[in-house]
Amino acid sequence: MIVFDLVCPDDHRFEGWFSSSADFTEQGDRGLLTCPVCGAADIRKAPMAPAVSTRVSERQGTTDSARGKQVANIELPAELKDAFAKIAKVQAEALKKSTWVGKKFAEEVRSQHYGEKDEAPVHGKATKEEAASLAEEGIAIAPILFPMADPDELN
Ligand SMILES: [Zn+2]
Repeated sequence: MIVFDLVCPDDHRFEGWFSSSADFTEQGDRGLLTCPVCGAADIRKAPMAPAVSTRVSERQGTTDSARGKQVANIELPAELKDAFAKIAKVQAEALKKSTWVGKKFAEEVRSQHYGEKDEAPVHGKATKEEAASLAEEGIAIAPILFPMADPDELN
């Protein structure tokens, strides 16, 4: 068996096991390969990940930096800055009631969802893969709109 990292047009990455490279091509041609997250049938091999150790986070970093950030060379209007500051403040208030769990986020919300732990607000980090599988399990999570200083990196 060989394993390929696969990717759909929406950039959901997953692994597929095949008996050979030809088997991958054949299954693709017959429309048997679909994305487990969105069901898209246009599946191709993902570019090789550069490192093995912290595979997921490295890969994430690579994709994000390759995509780039949206930027502008105009001064943002003061109202917009004020609005952002207001939202950031509201977000900070909301997060005060929540506990930072870092990379254990997925594990934590899963235990709460399945009743292994009492429900409590938490925030932390989730990879795209983790976010996708939580969504599949019907666990609602929301992105933090304004990135904040990462408590794991403050030391
Ligand atoms: Zn997909």
